[in-house]
Amino acid sequence: MNCIFCKIAKGEIPSKKVYEDEDLFVFHDISPKAPLHLLVIPKEHIESMAQLEPQHQAVMGRMMLLARQLAADHGSPEGFRTVVNTGKVGRQEVYHLHMHLLGGPAPLGASASF
Ligand code: 5GP
Ligand code: ZN
Repeated sequence: MNCIFCKIAKGEIPSKKVYEDEDLFVFHDISPKAPLHLLVIPKEHIESMAQLEPQHQAVMGRMMLLARQLAADHGSPEGFRTVVNTGKVGRQEVYHLHMHLLGGPAPLGASASF
C-alpha cells in the first residue's frame, strides 16, 4: 500500500518521532503551523474518521488520552488544540487518519485559521 503515514510508522520514511507504542505513532508535522505541531496516528491504516468502526474505539480513546502528556512534554503544558480533518469537506490531505496536536506555549491563533 502506498501510504506515506504507514511508511513513516514503519520507519521506512524518516520522521521526527516523539512517541511510539503498540498502537500509536507520534511525530512532528513536516510543515508546522504552530510552535508545537505533532501528528498522532494509529499504526493500523484507517483512511479517516469516516471509516471508523466499533473496534477502533479503544485506539481512538488512547489517542485522546495521550494528548495531554504529549503537550506537557513538548512545551505546551497550559493547553493545546486537536484537529482531525476528515474527507474532502474537511480538506484532509493525507488519507491515513491523524490527529493534529497544536500548541504554544503562547496562545494559538483563532481556531478558524486552522
Ligand atoms: P491533513 O491536511 O491531511 O489533515 O494534514 C496532513 C499533514 O501532514 C499536513 O499538516 C502536512 O504538513 C503533513 N505531512 C504531509 N506529508 C508529511 C511527511 O512526509 N512527513 C511529515 N512529518 N508530515 C507530513
Ligand atoms: Zn496508512
